[in-house]
Amino acid sequence: MRLILLGPPGAGKGTQAQRLIHKYGIVQLSTGEMLRAAVAAQTPVGLQAKDIMAGGGLVPDEIVIGIISDRLDQPDMKNGFILDGFPRTVPQAEALDDLLKKKHMRLDAVVELRVNESALLNRVETRVAEMRARGEEVRVDDTPEVLSKRLASYRTLTEPLIHYYSERRKLLTVDGMMTIEHVTREIGRILAAIGAVEAKAAQKADKKSAGKPVVESAAKPAKTATRKATRKTVKPAGKAAKKPAKTVRKAAKAGSKGSKKAAKGRTGGSKGRPAKRVGKAAKKVTKRRAKA
Ligand code: ADP
Repeated sequence: MRLILLGPPGAGKGTQAQRLIHKYGIVQLSTGEMLRAAVAAQTPVGLQAKDIMAGGGLVPDEIVIGIISDRLDQPDMKNGFILDGFPRTVPQAEALDDLLKKKHMRLDAVVELRVNESALLNRVETRVAEMRARGEEVRVDDTPEVLSKRLASYRTLTEPLIHYYSERRKLLTVDGMMTIEHVTREIGRILAAIGAVEAKAAQKADKKSAGKPVVESAAKPAKTATRKATRKTVKPAGKAAKKPAKTVRKAAKAGSKGSKKAAKGRTGGSKGRPAKRVGKAAKKVTKRRAKA
């Protein structure tokens, strides 16, 4: 499975990436972590990146693209990966498309963690306090001033990627304001819905990580992530609108009822009434369950 996690600083990308790598046995590639390691080791890249990072700016595209390209060639990439913090600009996304093509790799999905901006400062402050309490070194860019710069660069340079991947029918949006556990579950569910992971495997992993059965996901199939994802992917321009995404066809083939319904919701989106279709399907399931 190959995924990108997209979201502003403090959205929870790192936290969710950690959970996903355990769940699916894949590798996390965080350009922020890699760059911080380069800064600490005072490599030529680190020396170039140090001040830019401390000021909340973005390291030049060619540097991060080079880092990612090298990393994708490592043998531990074979099971898949989660990109966290990359791509961060449209040129980086285009470069990634080229790299993946050359390396014969296919991206499964881009998961956007959507959060209220007003919550971000609080989250980062909490992270700083927790790190201090654990005696860990705090990131130099985790101050209110630098955070506002990081947010501004997210808005202008990274947010256009939402449109970029939505047009390519790769975007899935999850409400990042829910609890950590809930967000993980939603991600598992939408990945199962598009056929990126086995529905059963996702549920099993959920049960393990949450320590309780995932009843809720069966009872409310369309309430949050999938429905939002459907809405977000309903208006692709041009060709994509006429042709259902490959992943959706794959999900339909997978044969599980859940996958089919979610997939239907997504393709149904191209007809313009995604939420209603998914909502009806959800009600039917609930009614059937009540009868049973
Ligand atoms: P954040 O919590 O802001 O998402 P990261 O740990 O992902 O933090 O990144 C920290 C810093 O590293 C960024 O502010 C930026 O300076 C640099 N950086 C990380 N990834 C990239 C990238 N893909 N392109 C350019 N700069 C990057």
